[in-house]
Amino acid sequence: MPYYRFDSPKLKIRIGKIVCLARTYKKHAEEMKAKTPEEPILFLKPASSVIFDNQSIVIPPRTGEVHHEVELGVVIGEKGKGIPEEKAEDYILGYLLALDITARDIQQRAKEEGLPWTISKGFDTFCPISNAVPKEMVPDANNLSLDLKVNGRIRQSSSTHNMIHSVEKIVSFVSEIMTLERGDLILTGTPEGVGRIKHGDVIEAKLGDICSLKVYVE
Ligand code: MG
Repeated sequence: MPYYRFDSPKLKIRIGKIVCLARTYKKHAEEMKAKTPEEPILFLKPASSVIFDNQSIVIPPRTGEVHHEVELGVVIGEKGKGIPEEKAEDYILGYLLALDITARDIQQRAKEEGLPWTISKGFDTFCPISNAVPKEMVPDANNLSLDLKVNGRIRQSSSTHNMIHSVEKIVSFVSEIMTLERGDLILTGTPEGVGRIKHGDVIEAKLGDICSLKVYVE
């Protein structure tokens, strides 16, 4: 079972469930030719899909098209259910940078057939995450730049400021559906610019000046 990497050795926290949101940035919904939903769309990724800085994404033979999605990750510090938006901050332990790696061809077929996205999102290595940073070091999680480069070229460049829902609203919404526990991780969705990655690529991503991540594609 993977643990978060905080700079402080005191924080030894196991990664729990990974709850992900879809279409939380208007321009990404547009590039996917999808509507922006009124309520967040949720799906889950398994903790077994996590890898860390300097490790490699492995493209499985089952897919012919794998995409990067750069996202703000919210680490939950306290157990909570039905958390009001104004209290959400109290339940957040910290933040990290995450890549929601997606087998787009498998996801597309699932969408057409009305099937879950689990296979397209759940392969081993499909959730690279950076070191985590305690919330005290982040002045405003709703105003952090998000950037991703592939082989040195910018593919995604936006800000959490462009999210349709605030971080607090997202925590509140998710906790209405399922109890959030210490160690759970919420991936808040990706801005526009998602694209294909292939064998030999190098991906570098940054969240403000607080988190960075470099991973390879095998
Ligand atoms: Mg995503």
